[in-house]
Amino acid sequence: MALIVQKFGGSSVANAERVMNVARIITDTYKEGNSVVVVVSAQGDTTDDLIEKANEINPKASKREMDMLLTSGEQISIALLAMAIESLGYPVISLLGWQAGFSTNSSYGSARIHKVNPERLQSEIDKKKIVIVAGFQGLNKYDDLTTLGRGGSDTSAVAIAAALHADRCQIFTDVSGVYTADPRKVANTQKLSDITYDEMLEFATLGAQVLNNRSVEMAKKYNVELEVLSSLVREPGTIVREVATMEKMLIRGVTKDTDIARISVVGMKDIPGNAFKMFSRLAQKGINIDVILQSVGRDGTKDISFTCAASHAEEAVEILSDIFSMEGAVVASDTTVAKVSIVGAGMQSHSGTASKMFGALYEAGINISMISTSEITISVLIDKELADKAVSAVHAAFFG
Ligand code: ADP
Ligand code: ASP
Ligand code: MG
Repeated sequence: MALIVQKFGGSSVANAERVMNVARIITDTYKEGNSVVVVVSAQGDTTDDLIEKANEINPKASKREMDMLLTSGEQISIALLAMAIESLGYPVISLLGWQAGFSTNSSYGSARIHKVNPERLQSEIDKKKIVIVAGFQGLNKYDDLTTLGRGGSDTSAVAIAAALHADRCQIFTDVSGVYTADPRKVANTQKLSDITYDEMLEFATLGAQVLNNRSVEMAKKYNVELEVLSSLVREPGTIVREVATMEKMLIRGVTKDTDIARISVVGMKDIPGNAFKMFSRLAQKGINIDVILQSVGRDGTKDISFTCAASHAEEAVEILSDIFSMEGAVVASDTTVAKVSIVGAGMQSHSGTASKMFGALYEAGINISMISTSEITISVLIDKELADKAVSAVHAAFFG
């Protein structure tokens, strides 16, 4: 008998038929003699719909009230799923995040989990109940509801698996695993049988939304092996773990991020400390920056540009204008760019990976405006309108 954590995303519970389908997957696992704790997301597009509702009333609503609103989506799905399991005749109980022991910091909208106190979960498991937990939410020190950021239910599932020392953590979704690129958008993608934490973390951070990047970070930290699989087709999925077996692969996949902006500071003074001033102020405000490009100095001035999340662009421009306008620099943001990346530990031991990627883009007639690399990634900045074409061209070059 094992303790298994299963997570079901929004599309897996989008309507009554899908809820019943998920109830059967859960009860089949329970019938085999396992203890089962389930994490579930809001149904279908519920979270997006709630955000739209809020925007109709107050587009500048406080983050606290947004979290109060958004947590309601998951409350609906836990109750419905528990009712479905009751109808099949199994013992079940639904719990909100705080009832399941989730305490977080107070960053409404992107809260970090401090701790999961497993007492209540364990006592329900001991009573042989199937436990259904609302994903994406917790409680801060003021007893206010918080949410973990979009896609945060994956992280809820991993946190529970870690707190309970579960034997398995399964992330059920609407595709059969992690593929070499988004199987809904790119032709001839291949399912990966496994992938390392480090590769998956980069893949998720660079745009492969099949897993939330914080969930992968946490899985690595607590050594929780993840299986990503379909709730609609019963077949083996992809295992995310420390060491992967498909070592011969040059790269694991191709992904894109269209939700970014390029910020440029043109004509700043070419003196020591300016880059430090720039990036430390951004860091203080919690703005993560990515691809950085600095020009060669001329006439005592230089230009620096970098990318950040589109949602941070306005604030970044304000901060940098405050610092650099006085010295005559011009700060601007450009949201017509996208980042296309390849990920894979195999590139460390193979030369020619970058040239293969750049060659594919050249043949597709796509211009590269910035490049950045790490040990296991290569990213390029290109015109946003060409992002899908670029992903397909690069994917075809590596995977045929
Ligand atoms: P859930 O609601 O189950 O959390 P998500 O929509 O967050 O599901 O994630 C699943 C989606 O991720 C898939 O439908 C797929 O379109 C997308 N996706 C993007 N990149 C990949 C990839 N490399 N492999 C698999 N799916 C991917
Ligand atoms: N319902 C939340 C969202 O849409 C959390 C999740 O789906 O993981 O982002
Ligand atoms: Mg998701």
